Amino acid sequence: MKILLIAPSSGNWKSLGKKKIFNGKTFRFSMLSLLTIAALTPDEHELTLIDEQVDDIPENPDFDLIGITVMTAVAPRAYELCEYFHKNNIPVVVGGFHPTFNIEEALNHADSVVAGPAAGAWNNLLDDFKKGALEKIYYGDPTLPSPAILPKHLLNKKKYITVNTMHATLGCRNECAFCSITAFYKGQRYQRPVEEVVEVLKSFKEKFFMFIDDNLTQDRDYIVDLLTAMIPLKKKWVTQASIEIADDPALLQLMHDSGCMGIFAGLESFSESALCSQNKRIKHPQYYKDAVKKIHDYGIYVEAGLIFGFNNDGPKVFEHTLKILDDIGIDAIQASILTPLPGTPLFNQMKNNIVDFNWEHYDYKYAVYQPAQMSREELRAGLEWINKRFYSLWRILKRLVRWIFMPSGYCNFYAPLYLNVAYWGRQFQFKVKGFNPALKRRKDAAREKPSWKKGQGWSIAGIH
Ligand code: SF4
Repeated sequence: MKILLIAPSSGNWKSLGKKKIFNGKTFRFSMLSLLTIAALTPDEHELTLIDEQVDDIPENPDFDLIGITVMTAVAPRAYELCEYFHKNNIPVVVGGFHPTFNIEEALNHADSVVAGPAAGAWNNLLDDFKKGALEKIYYGDPTLPSPAILPKHLLNKKKYITVNTMHATLGCRNECAFCSITAFYKGQRYQRPVEEVVEVLKSFKEKFFMFIDDNLTQDRDYIVDLLTAMIPLKKKWVTQASIEIADDPALLQLMHDSGCMGIFAGLESFSESALCSQNKRIKHPQYYKDAVKKIHDYGIYVEAGLIFGFNNDGPKVFEHTLKILDDIGIDAIQASILTPLPGTPLFNQMKNNIVDFNWEHYDYKYAVYQPAQMSREELRAGLEWINKRFYSLWRILKRLVRWIFMPSGYCNFYAPLYLNVAYWGRQFQFKVKGFNPALKRRKDAAREKPSWKKGQGWSIAGIH
């Protein structure tokens, strides 16, 4: 059979990879979901992979089956593709996070849905399809191992920052309200045997690779064994991890010795009550300053995941957060608007407050609900403002100078440099503007404030 696997894309991201500069390459690295399905597919089938950020959908498709991986923000595009392939009489299967939590909706567009991870579902689906007995729903098994060696030759390597990516672990046992990982893997956490991880890493020709784990450092014994086994490989790597690694000097030393250059850590907010409302375990914002310093001492950069739009976030949250970011020495940020994705506890909590069910807006850049203390426009503008300010050339320069003088900073200097320039380029490419809602409100208030002017009676300040 000829099978086409697609990662759809929409909005600013669609075809971004074809641009000459700032083409999003730094942020394009994973594709692990499609590659995993490709690895599970028996050799008898002919496979083609399309990543819509860099490739076009074929005009005269000649395939027996289409598989589409769907995140919420690309669901409308995925459904458009279902229609397109159906017009060409080709059946379509969808899978991934969005169809898993919206099975009925997905079945309105696709012939079949894979719910949960593909392992344990995809091969049964292919067998049934061959027999002409495709079922509507296939459930994956999160306890099954996912393939270690992936057919990366199916990707155009030049379009990605690296194709050297892997999962050492899958799933997470935490229950952050805005995250669907725990529900997707049904609370299961899978650990790949250390020897298997090492074999995969040895197969990477380049020095640099990425762990795409949701929470790599969650199990201490496992991560200690893994990092110890990685030291002789002399690799350079980055990952997502909990900021709590800062409390474990032995672990930080192992991360440093095994070549860790940086972590992405979800700090989310500097508001204690916001963190409590999302079931986040770290509840003392002051903690972050010491934590970042300790991680920096091992030459590891910290990219912070931040979320705006919690109930207690007023218009001042953006300028307040920027001040703290400058103070605690974060190296890069990925800022988002609180987004109630289907499948998360947050979605159920906020259901009655959601005003926008256009899934395309669930890309973390829109307020799809009415925030408690701001307008939706203010929230979106504030997000753009903090991104622009944090990635102003002056701030980037200050961060990089600071980095050079940090212990081991000179070794990994190019990592924060590359990341900051890429984020700056993204603001440029996406024409990010925004404004500081608190400042705008102050200015508006000053304009409207009655003031006494000698000889003129009461007047409106700012008009005279
Ligand atoms: S946000 Fe991170 S720590 Fe929280 S549940 Fe999701 S993967 Fe786990």
